[in-house]
Amino acid sequence: MALPDAAAAEPASSMTQPSDLASRLQTVRGGVADAARAAGRDPADITTIAITKFHPVSLIEELYALGVRNLGENRHQEAQAKAAELAGQDLVWHFVGQIQGKKARQVRAYANVIHSIDRESLVTALGSEDSSVDCFIQVNLTDDAARGGVDPANLTALVDNVLATPGLRLLGLMAVAPLGVEPRRAFAHVRELSERLRGQAPAATALSMGMSQDYAAAVLEGATHLRIGTAITGNRPVL
Ligand SMILES: *Cc1c(COP(=O)(O)O)cnc(C)c1O
Repeated sequence: MALPDAAAAEPASSMTQPSDLASRLQTVRGGVADAARAAGRDPADITTIAITKFHPVSLIEELYALGVRNLGENRHQEAQAKAAELAGQDLVWHFVGQIQGKKARQVRAYANVIHSIDRESLVTALGSEDSSVDCFIQVNLTDDAARGGVDPANLTALVDNVLATPGLRLLGLMAVAPLGVEPRRAFAHVRELSERLRGQAPAATALSMGMSQDYAAAVLEGATHLRIGTAITGNRPVL
């Protein structure tokens, strides 16, 4: 066993009862399988990423013992510290938060997949002649530029920019469904954007979309990567 069994190593904390974690995880796995079946899709084509932001490494160890290998974080310093503490484990680290240009190289050093490419300066900062990193371009479905993501009107140019930059392997598009919009409509929009890119970027077919509240709708619209936090981890601790 690569990691200690956290349930055995530690008394159950009041914050996260391991049995609750296991049952929430099982519920999500069942929900993903049900949604895949409803969509006529193979659940094996869908990667569920457990978003562990704000939670301690001990929770990641519990998830590991339950078979979780794909983890997501959205804050660089926290992600960097967790990845360092768990270095050498067979984990796949997904970075899903906004990235400051001056931190881009550091994020690249531990992230296996970067979901939040949204501007050309970031593409330049993440490029490399020496190694390749998987990435998604994040699309902003709101009118609020502060939310992160590229305006769909500028997507084609950004895709060209990523494709022309060594060291970035474009998997597809990422998005967050905006508040106040039917999630399925938002995800259908992302799927349409993705289909329009087929000629330009034939390999970039993945779709990172769907969170705790809306992952079933995302699966119906073709999501390949679900980013699920609280439905698995329980409520995030308040820091
Ligand atoms: C926190 C976060 C999630 C997970 O959100 P939940 O509602 O807890 O499932 C997914 N994607 C991004 C970009 C996030 O920051």
